[in-house]
Amino acid sequence: MSRAVPRSLAARLLDDYDRSLDRAGFCGARLAERLETISRIGLTENGGSNRPGFSEAERQAKDLACDWMRVAGMSVTQDAAGNRFGRLAGRDENLPAVMCGSHVDSVPDGGHFDGVLGVVLAIEAVEMWSAAGVTPLRPYEVAIFSDEEGSRFNLGLLGSGAMVGRHTQDELERLRDQDGRTFSSVVDAAGLPVPNFPQAQRDMSSIDSYVEVHIEQGRVLEREGLGLGVVSGICGLVGLEISVRGVAGHAGATPMPHRQDALVSASRMVVAINTLPGQFSATAVATVGQLNVLPNGANVIPGEVRFSVDIRDVAAGPLAALAERIVATTVQIAKADQVELSWSQVFSVPPTPVDPALVAVQEAAMAELGLPPFALPSGAGHDAMLIGAHAPMAMFFVRSRDGVSHNPREYSSLNDCAQAAHALSRTLTSLVNDPASPDEKQRRLHNV
Ligand SMILES: [Zn+2]
Repeated sequence: MSRAVPRSLAARLLDDYDRSLDRAGFCGARLAERLETISRIGLTENGGSNRPGFSEAERQAKDLACDWMRVAGMSVTQDAAGNRFGRLAGRDENLPAVMCGSHVDSVPDGGHFDGVLGVVLAIEAVEMWSAAGVTPLRPYEVAIFSDEEGSRFNLGLLGSGAMVGRHTQDELERLRDQDGRTFSSVVDAAGLPVPNFPQAQRDMSSIDSYVEVHIEQGRVLEREGLGLGVVSGICGLVGLEISVRGVAGHAGATPMPHRQDALVSASRMVVAINTLPGQFSATAVATVGQLNVLPNGANVIPGEVRFSVDIRDVAAGPLAALAERIVATTVQIAKADQVELSWSQVFSVPPTPVDPALVAVQEAAMAELGLPPFALPSGAGHDAMLIGAHAPMAMFFVRSRDGVSHNPREYSSLNDCAQAAHALSRTLTSLVNDPASPDEKQRRLHNV
């Protein structure tokens, strides 16, 4: 009996590909082939990707993309964090560069589009310029950031974080991976000069703007019937830990009116929290994802429940107001139920706005292609999030089939990827040929 050989990713992508999208130097077959070639590195039994940050598989995927960049006429460098940069010289090398990129690491059994699509499309833009005989005015850089997913140290965005000076070496040294290995030993094994990791910090005035294409990892675009969207902002998040204390007791010996059941009160809180985000903004979300019931016995009335609340929104005001209301609501329920409540804020990350001048360029590019410039927020963090705090930033989202991500079933059609290539290339072409500084662009935007 022979097992069916799984069809190659490239063959599946090309199956329903609309070849009229092969124009302006874009080549669907090349994109499909590149996605497939990277997908073979760290391929899992389930047909997924396993390329943790600082692994041999991540390095191989970076090497491969760097080969493509060299062939496309870019010079390639690596910084102290293992980030790779391909640079295409501009006609005026004194101007700050336009940067575009993403990552090639993955979660342990991830998909073949998360991160990789952004890197491959950033390179495709150079292929398209080369076919059109275009030399950009500004230098252009493709960035491949190390360990975006954070599956190694449970701390993501390490490469882009190093570029913007997010962590000191001391902070990094405290990290341990799942096998208890220190940051130094992991980074050393990856062939990077260990104590120099923070030297990857870059003078951010050398970057004019940063654009990233990423799969949506949700179902908003699919529900809208759209292949491509413009990201309206990257959500900030507030993490709360709430503890409800009632009285534990025997499940048989305590009559119902005498109970202070912490789980019943916590359940009321969970239901109440679920109704609140819509009152603050259309994009706000709140999730109770972790619940610890104590003592967690089948015949014991729960004495204590600790639960997490993950609150996100693209706008700082509604985010803070929602977090406050969630706390106030739980306090109210605890009072009514006569249980004790304590809470703490475990983390808070402000939203990262996208740059309005860049968004105007993205929307113009989509309009030229006859695509509606649909805007949607990013609920997940991306390398763009850290860079956006230091340089003008914008993102495109590509439709994810069934909204599935971080899973071998992750898929985006080649037609959607091709539309993204065309919109990205037009956006980047405008940016690399615009000599105006970010300030001048803002003034221009507001004078229109
Ligand atoms: Zn990603």
